[in-house]
Amino acid sequence: MPTDLQPGDATKGTYRTINTTDIQRTVDIGCPNCGKFHRLTEATISPDGDVRPVVLCECGFNDYVKLVGWQNPKAGYPSARRGNPQSG
Ligand SMILES: [Zn+2]
Repeated sequence: MPTDLQPGDATKGTYRTINTTDIQRTVDIGCPNCGKFHRLTEATISPDGDVRPVVLCECGFNDYVKLVGWQNPKAGYPSARRGNPQSG
């Protein structure tokens, strides 16, 4: 079972997307165990948010992580921004 990371600011147990083109995906995360900052460059992220390879942290954390709420950038390029549910 991967460890879930929530969208946030890359503090403990959260992740922050830096760049999501179809050739490079960079995600910042905070170790869910100790909160240490990690930058995952060229990570492989599935459409469901599963990150490969495993995240290794000096605190001993050694596990797969899953980005909760991740959207596959190929499947949904940001033609429409989320987060504004107000209607006209
Ligand atoms: Zn850690």
